[in-house]
Amino acid sequence: MARINDNYLKLKAGYLFPEIARRVKEFSDAHPEAQIIRLGIGDVTQPLVPAVIEAFHAGVDDLAKAETFHGYGPEQGYNWLSQLIAEKAYAPLGVELKPSEIFISDGSKCDSANILDILDLGNKVAICDPVYPVYHDTNVMIGRSGEADAKGYYEGIVYMPCTAENDFTPAFPEEKVDIIYLCYPNNPTGTVATKEQLKAWVDYAIARNAIIFFDAAYEAFITEPGIPHSIYEIDGAKQCAIEFRSFSKTAGFTGVRCGLTVIPHELTATSATGEKVALNKLWNRRQSTKFNGVSYPVQRAAAAVYSEQGWLQVKEVINFYLENAKIIKQGLEAAGIDCYGGVNAPYIWLKTPENMGSWEFFDKLLKECHVVGTPGSGFGPSGEGYFRLSAFGGRENVKKAVKRIVEKWGKK
Ligand SMILES: *Cc1c(COP(=O)(O)O)cnc(C)c1O
Repeated sequence: MARINDNYLKLKAGYLFPEIARRVKEFSDAHPEAQIIRLGIGDVTQPLVPAVIEAFHAGVDDLAKAETFHGYGPEQGYNWLSQLIAEKAYAPLGVELKPSEIFISDGSKCDSANILDILDLGNKVAICDPVYPVYHDTNVMIGRSGEADAKGYYEGIVYMPCTAENDFTPAFPEEKVDIIYLCYPNNPTGTVATKEQLKAWVDYAIARNAIIFFDAAYEAFITEPGIPHSIYEIDGAKQCAIEFRSFSKTAGFTGVRCGLTVIPHELTATSATGEKVALNKLWNRRQSTKFNGVSYPVQRAAAAVYSEQGWLQVKEVINFYLENAKIIKQGLEAAGIDCYGGVNAPYIWLKTPENMGSWEFFDKLLKECHVVGTPGSGFGPSGEGYFRLSAFGGRENVKKAVKRIVEKWGKK
């Protein structure tokens, strides 16, 4: 008799987004005239920029001719793309990487999940609360946790609460942990970490032989000078950190699929016999066996992001989203609502007015303003009482949504 992986049964089966969809459908069925504005999504809405489209087409045309046809590519990605990323994305930050330290992939959701393959199940993991649910659920799926308690905390996982009280800066875990997930700029809170704060994490990790998984999916949204775009801007990080990046939010590749993972050659962890083993080698082995690379036209399209025109066009789209974020943030603040993020990230994390619960606010916002957002409690117990609005949307809709919220909650 075949058995399932029972760890999957510990998960609260995809509760958040289906529940949002159910409530929105129920409301719109009852009120077909309501113009509902959706600011709940974590997906881009603007099309790919012209330079990317042109390169994408050229990549496809190459496949039409025998002389330029490409079959299986390197599992690690084409060297020309890794080289370009090292030169254009990292060298300007003062970070020197070899192409062999950069692994091109089909996205950082997959990589941040798959990376667990090369590390022992006995490692203790620390995650922020609230958090991008992928880090959490993949650890439950692989069997690193026990069951969830009434609050939603799983036995065996270390949670680091991030709330307004600690300025969304997680405290160092008191118990010994081996793997720490950090995401800056943060989803869902939209907050960032300073160089000093990241330096403290790097020092902490090195002192304890721990590894940091650093998710920089939103680094292109950083507007304030001095905020690190990469963990490797911090001295010592190459000894202790893996960085995940993605073209998804940077260049609208959520449906195209391309990301990258950096594993520096000097990053090691110990084997059962106490030997130090380079994680770059293990990941290379893992990818070579379980992955067949990203398609050639997609890598050509990704390379175009770093062309002069491509980067200008991509930045214009990012600025469009950031302007949306500003409009939302200023509107909410004018209505007397406390909000965070939205300056270096496409998310606004707000404290629900009148101390409403996250779902209570969701319902009120839907019924009275016809605006959809994401309840903070869906990202973890410490997200209760908070709410996420996304800046991915059209300008008119964003303005309308803000107007409705201000009319409802604005100080009279
Ligand atoms: C959107 C997002 C990503 C990107 O995932 P892809 O698989 O590359 O599309 C990674 N991390 C976080 C926190 C995100 O919100």
